[in-house]
Amino acid sequence: AYNFNAGPAALPLVVLEKAQAELLDFNGTGMSVMELSHRGKDYEAVHNRAIELLRELMAIPQDYEVLFLQGGASLQFSMVPMNFLAAGKKAGYVMTGSWSEKAYAEAAKLGEVFVAATAKEGNYRRIPAWEEISYGADSAYLHITSNNTIFGTEWQAFPDTGAVPLVADMSSDILSKPFAVKKFALIYAGAQKNLGPSGVTVVIIRRDFLEQANKNLPTMLCYATHAKNNSMYNTPPTFGIYMMKLMLEWVKAEGGVPAIYKRNREKAALIYDAIDASNGFYVGHAQPEARSLMNITFRLAEEELEKKFLDQAKKTGFVGLNGHRSVGGCRASSYNAVPYESCQALRDFMLAFQKENA
Ligand code: PLP
Repeated sequence: AYNFNAGPAALPLVVLEKAQAELLDFNGTGMSVMELSHRGKDYEAVHNRAIELLRELMAIPQDYEVLFLQGGASLQFSMVPMNFLAAGKKAGYVMTGSWSEKAYAEAAKLGEVFVAATAKEGNYRRIPAWEEISYGADSAYLHITSNNTIFGTEWQAFPDTGAVPLVADMSSDILSKPFAVKKFALIYAGAQKNLGPSGVTVVIIRRDFLEQANKNLPTMLCYATHAKNNSMYNTPPTFGIYMMKLMLEWVKAEGGVPAIYKRNREKAALIYDAIDASNGFYVGHAQPEARSLMNITFRLAEEELEKKFLDQAKKTGFVGLNGHRSVGGCRASSYNAVPYESCQALRDFMLAFQKENA
C-alpha cells in the first residue's frame, strides 16, 4: 500500500522486518522483548539506547532530560500548564490550528492563558509572522505547534523568545528536519508519526526549567518524577520504546536527520509541484511560505471531482488521502518513513487524473 496516513503512520519495511525477526526471541533471551522485565538489563539496554540515539540524532544538549511518557501529546496539553502555569502568571498560545486550540483549551481550565497570535482567519493557512506575536516578558511560557497536522502548515524557523520559555508540540514534525533544541524549554511529541507506534510520548525538557515545575501534583503528572527515575517510575511502554529504538537506528542508518530532511523536501516537492503546475485543478490549502513537509493539504475545484479523485486513488492503492473530517479535501501525510517512490506514485496519479478529468 502507498500509506499516506496522518497517524499512526507508515513505518519503514526494514524496521517491521527486524521487529518480526526478533519477535519471539529477543537477543537470545528466549523471550519476546514485550515479555522482558523493565528492571532487567536486556530491556534497560533498549531503553537507554533509545534515549542515547534520540540525543545524538537531534543533537540534544546535555542540560536537557529526555523522557518517555504515556497519555499521548494530548496529556501534555494538561501536563505543561499543571507544571508550569503558576497562579499569577499567564501563558501565551500561538494558534495555528486545531491542535493549538486543544492545547489552549486544556490550559485555560488550569490557569490564565492568552492568545499571543492567531492564524484562524482564512482557516489556518499560514503561520503568524514573528512581529505579530505578542506576550509579556513575565509570561509563564509561550506555546507553539510546530507542524499543523490537519491544516498542513509548518513553522519554517523558530523564534528566539529570550527569557520566556518556549514550549512546542512537535508531534507531527519531530525528527523531520534539523533545528536547534536549545531554543526550547520543552518539546513534546506523540510517537505515532515519525518515531514509531502510538503509546509513547517523548518529552525533551531543559533541566533549569524542570526545576521550576509545580511539585504539588499527583506523582505521575510531575515531570520530575519521570526525570528522577529515567522514565521508569512505573512500567514504561516497553514494546513501543523498543520500536522507537528500531526507528531511530533506521534514521541513523539513512544518514541522520540532514539526510532525512533532504529526502522529505524532495518528496514534498513532487506533490507541491503537481499542485502548482495544475492551473488551479488542484488547490493547496497552505500559503506556499507556510507549507508543511509532513502534511500536504489540497482540494479539487469541484466536490464531485474530489470524491472521484479520492475513490480512484483508493482503488489504485493509496491509503489515507482523505482530509481530516474537520476540514475535508485531501491530505497526503509524507512522514519520514514514507518512501520517495510513494510520493512519485502519487504525483503520477495526480497528473494522470488531471489529464483525464480537466
Ligand atoms: N498534536 C498534534 C500536532 C497532533 O498531530 C496530534 C495527533 O495527531 C496530537 C497533538 C494528539 O496526539 P495524541 O493522539 O498522541 O494525544
